[in-house]
Amino acid sequence: MTTTHDATEVQMAPWTNGAAYSDGGFCSIEQAKISVLDMGLTRSDCTYDVVHVWNGRFFRLDAHIDRFLESMARLRLDAGHDRAGLEDILHEVVRRSGLRDSYVSMTCTRGRPAPGSRDLRTCRNNFYCFAVPFIWITTPEQQRTGVHMWISDIPRIPPESVDPVVKNYHWLDFDMALFDAYDHDAQLVVLGDLSGAVTEGAGYNIFAHVDGRWLTPATGALRGVTRQTVIDLVTAAGGIVEQGRLSADDLRRANEVLVTSTAGGVMPVTTLHGQPVGDGMPGPRTRELHDLYWSSHEDPAWSTPVRA
Ligand code: PLP
Repeated sequence: MTTTHDATEVQMAPWTNGAAYSDGGFCSIEQAKISVLDMGLTRSDCTYDVVHVWNGRFFRLDAHIDRFLESMARLRLDAGHDRAGLEDILHEVVRRSGLRDSYVSMTCTRGRPAPGSRDLRTCRNNFYCFAVPFIWITTPEQQRTGVHMWISDIPRIPPESVDPVVKNYHWLDFDMALFDAYDHDAQLVVLGDLSGAVTEGAGYNIFAHVDGRWLTPATGALRGVTRQTVIDLVTAAGGIVEQGRLSADDLRRANEVLVTSTAGGVMPVTTLHGQPVGDGMPGPRTRELHDLYWSSHEDPAWSTPVRA
């Protein structure tokens, strides 16, 4: 029988469905658990981050850990591990999974309050993470032919209420908007803010190529690591990215639209709200960025090998 919570145990066979770290020890993804009383579950009182491993290398791990540490500080959460400790656990969880291409998620929840209490100050924060096979929001095949996006009429939760810069599980606006999108044969969705400005979608940032430059929302969205990577790649190639206000009209008249996420990279949007974007095929700039993005995964400036 496999020992579930022995941090010193050396796992011989990889957990190819996924490995996890929870309650202070390593286990298979099936054995990982969280209390039904954890405020992360009952109140979405938590923050998380997702980094990926591609061909045995973490991609921009530092940027993900920076964001995770900043988000925890904003929410008064403490994972109980410093940066070096978090890195050790993330390397070890991937190593134990044996996965070469992996979606690696880390979460810190408020935890359980003391019995009979609802005082948040009595909670002991709970850190867990896991490595599972790489997750694609849109598959490589879909990315070659293009993807349909729906513009939702559900407004994004206002940033004044839940700050989207702190990566969070407040996803009911996204999830309901996604069902709307599915009803219109679209796989992606984008939400506006209360003023009508475009924000982001269910796990991805958005860029539109309009009036000779890429335009992406400056506010109202997570500062995605893939978003920043696209900004870096475009800028290094001499192109222009403006972070500003993106309207639904800008989106509709754009010659190329793409979304960015750790779970899929740079993904072309070829149909928007039932209308083709450009000629309805992935555009040349998007294809080039897609290729640059994936080839940058071998660059030691942006990637770190998973420790053996
Ligand atoms: N926006 C939201 C709401 C997200 O949840 C995510 C990632 O999960 C993103 C954007 C993209 O961020 P990243 O590129 O860091 O994966």
